[in-house]
Amino acid sequence: MECDLLVIGSGMAGLSAAGWAAERGARVVVVEKASTRGGSAVLSGGVVWTATSASRMSMYGCGDPGLGDVVLQTYPQALAWIRSRGIQVSPAMNVLHGRGYAIDLIHHLDDCIQMVEKAGGYIVYETTTETLLKDDAGKVIGARTVCADGTVDVIAANTILATGGYQGSPELRAQNIHENARNLLLRSNPVSQGDGIRLGTEAGGVFNKDNKGFYGHLVTKSPNWGEERYYTGLSQYHSDHSLLFNEQGFRYCDETEGDHTNTYRTVFETNARAIVLWDKRIQETYATAHVVLSAPPLDKYKVAIENGGEGVRTTNVAELEKFATAHGFDGAQLVKSLAEYQEGATNGWENLNPPRRESAVPLDGEYYALVVYSAITFTFGGLMIDTGARVLKDDGTVLPGLLAAGSDAGGAYGIGYAGGLALAITFGITAAQTAGWK
Ligand SMILES: Cc1cc2nc3c(=O)[nH]c(=O)nc-3n(C[C@H](O)[C@H](O)[C@H](O)COP(=O)(O)OP(=O)(O)OC[C@H]3O[C@@H](n4cnc5c(N)ncnc54)[C@H](O)[C@@H]3O)c2cc1C
Repeated sequence: MECDLLVIGSGMAGLSAAGWAAERGARVVVVEKASTRGGSAVLSGGVVWTATSASRMSMYGCGDPGLGDVVLQTYPQALAWIRSRGIQVSPAMNVLHGRGYAIDLIHHLDDCIQMVEKAGGYIVYETTTETLLKDDAGKVIGARTVCADGTVDVIAANTILATGGYQGSPELRAQNIHENARNLLLRSNPVSQGDGIRLGTEAGGVFNKDNKGFYGHLVTKSPNWGEERYYTGLSQYHSDHSLLFNEQGFRYCDETEGDHTNTYRTVFETNARAIVLWDKRIQETYATAHVVLSAPPLDKYKVAIENGGEGVRTTNVAELEKFATAHGFDGAQLVKSLAEYQEGATNGWENLNPPRRESAVPLDGEYYALVVYSAITFTFGGLMIDTGARVLKDDGTVLPGLLAAGSDAGGAYGIGYAGGLALAITFGITAAQTAGWK
């Protein structure tokens, strides 16, 4: 089978690349391992957002500046493309440390499939990829795929890897992030298990293994975990306004860097868990408010407790200590650390350790506490690419014929985060353009 472009993975990055190229006349084959399209994109809130400037990208994304720039520079083109096809786009809204729009994501993905089919290509489901194929000169010329009907070699001028990262593999998480990451709660599609990275490295590409970062949130445990609506319902996004204590009872990070960064830092703490503590002001201002305007506001404490979360609401510090101790934390030290924070926030913010970059307000004494666990949505350490989404070899040169986009492409973010859908669509478009479909 021959085509202009082979895309492996039909989530946000893969379908955006496929649709972009097909709209410009490419015959595209999309290979999807699952029985349906969409990956984590269809589980998402659909808010395509990113940082609002290069300095904020560097401050909050913390990744390779050149790759972060691709996201920023391609974002307007991506939004214009979405709008040009009649996809519904909300008014602009603030998201975490950036800004974006809620789009009709299902319409976008299905429209990409229609464009692929209209241009003579197609999408195949329940198909795995055994290996990438190379010619004698070392150029990737397609892939050997396996479906119910047997093995099919797909020959393509260019191949894009877009299988969504490796968060679905406990083994790879343990190897590449930290041993504690083996047991993380998974907050994404379960199919993304590092296949793109395996295929790319076997073909001679380099895995950005120094990048241990990932996007995720701190969540409470629940017997309902795995039901997709709880991925956002149990996420304690307001941890960036709260305090976090590890099992030893100490603060261990600047909570104000963001809940996603707190989630990353918590993986390196004992049992990858913490107590998140906040007060009435934070409860009323953040823990019961919209996270983004397109999502309904929820009382995060109430939802957590109703779904089996471990929590306490009290004005009594002794009760707080008892709660922490009963859940395997050093309650006495936690209370001591809280007192130190209260004193520092009032009379010595400059000496707080860890510091608080964005705010340091003493808690008002009406406490809410929950035991929270790191949950992972997608990994940042993928294949090394250049700013054209071309996969790189270990000598820094390009592996011809092979591109990577979305969570398979490593390095745009470090331990921060500036949008997953934007990362996917901007690198999807970039990869299609590099493949010749401007
Ligand atoms: C609950 C939740 C909420 C989110 N909310 C937002 C949000 O509001 N805004 C935002 O910016 N981001 C959000 N995200 C993140 C966003 O969804 C992802 O960053 C984005 O979907 C990544 O795109 P991708 O194409 O790399 O991966 P995916 O969209 O996951 O697509 C990967 C695809 O590859 C397929 N695949 C895996 N292995 C293979 C293989 N071997 N062969 C073929 N196919 C394979 C998978 O089945 C999947 O279809 C959210 C994610 C979740 C889970």
